[in-house]
Amino acid sequence: MAETKRDYYEVLGVEKNANESAIKSAYRKLAKKYHPDMNPGDQEAEKKFKEASEAYAVLSDADKRRKYDQFGHAAFEQGGGGGGFGGFDFGGDMGDIFGDIFGDLFGGGRSRRNSNGPMRGDDVRASVRITFEEAVKGCEKELELMLKDTCKTCNGTGAKPGTSPQTCTKCGGKGQVVFTQQSLFGMVQNVRSCPECNGKGKIIKEKCPDCYGTGYIANKKKISVTIPAGIDNGQSIRIREKGEPGINGGSRGDLLVEVMVSRHALFQRQDMDIFSVVNISFPVATLGGTIRIKTVDGEVEYDVKAGTQTDTRVRLRGKGMPSLRNKNVRGDHYVTLVVQVPTNLSHAAKEALKEYDLESGNTLNQKKEAAKTKKKGFMEKLKESLED
Ligand SMILES: [Zn+2]
Ligand SMILES: [Zn+2]
Repeated sequence: MAETKRDYYEVLGVEKNANESAIKSAYRKLAKKYHPDMNPGDQEAEKKFKEASEAYAVLSDADKRRKYDQFGHAAFEQGGGGGGFGGFDFGGDMGDIFGDIFGDLFGGGRSRRNSNGPMRGDDVRASVRITFEEAVKGCEKELELMLKDTCKTCNGTGAKPGTSPQTCTKCGGKGQVVFTQQSLFGMVQNVRSCPECNGKGKIIKEKCPDCYGTGYIANKKKISVTIPAGIDNGQSIRIREKGEPGINGGSRGDLLVEVMVSRHALFQRQDMDIFSVVNISFPVATLGGTIRIKTVDGEVEYDVKAGTQTDTRVRLRGKGMPSLRNKNVRGDHYVTLVVQVPTNLSHAAKEALKEYDLESGNTLNQKKEAAKTKKKGFMEKLKESLED
């Protein structure tokens, strides 16, 4: 809202004393040029289109134009100066303008909520759980969802056949009401959804018996979802037009499927890389040797270098997760090698280790070992004397 607004007359390129038809034809020219349908994806055009539409909404309405001439933009700013004439109701009025200007061009009004124009249905969210392996390879999942369809009995109006919804008298069909609130800055006027019709602008007196006035019937539907290789936990897949039905011929909303990837017993993932821990024996760490390491592609052989210390991290190139964009591009698999201290040694193994210890010249250990033998000898002697 900090953006400075251009003068409405300037936006439409008309004189301050321009008459109604001059304003209308100026807007028609701009609207045709910048209409989103004519400039798909062009944000600058969309901005210009909105700006022109807003200017036209004010200048084409004698009452609003008079207020604008007197107070400028402040006349339509909520809680702003100029005495607060109520919020500029962009959404509510646009249906009329579009119907008026574009009725012939686009075959009916394009508009937002609370009008009779086509409206896109809401998006529907669902979730699916897959295994770590499925995330690596990609998979196909079938979801069973309750999805709404337009009620055929009432064609989505919600009214009993033979009757029709009545325009809400509280909001005049706009679905919004202006209310005044006391605030720190004085009286502020705000717009909120009409409580009488719940923002629909229409009230159904006799409800359709099949959909109970909702206009929809929920049906169980099977939808198959293609989950690409490389998907990460929490990412969503958008399936176009599988959401809730649109209103007045509007397109269906989308279905957003959140993918939850189960944890794996061995593998952890970070971006495109996989991490795991593999235990190696003390002799392999010392002398080197070939081990087998589990990867998402199955087991691979790996040559451990002689003298490998515990917690050494090695990289298996290209054994990580595939890229979502190109499954041939893959991350790496990092393996932390943990050296195991041997337990349950046989007598011969113990002797061999002691020999190694002696060989390595670790004198401190030899002294301790000697002391232990001495102590053990004394205990054994004691035991023997007690048994006698
Ligand atoms: Zn119905
Ligand atoms: Zn209402």
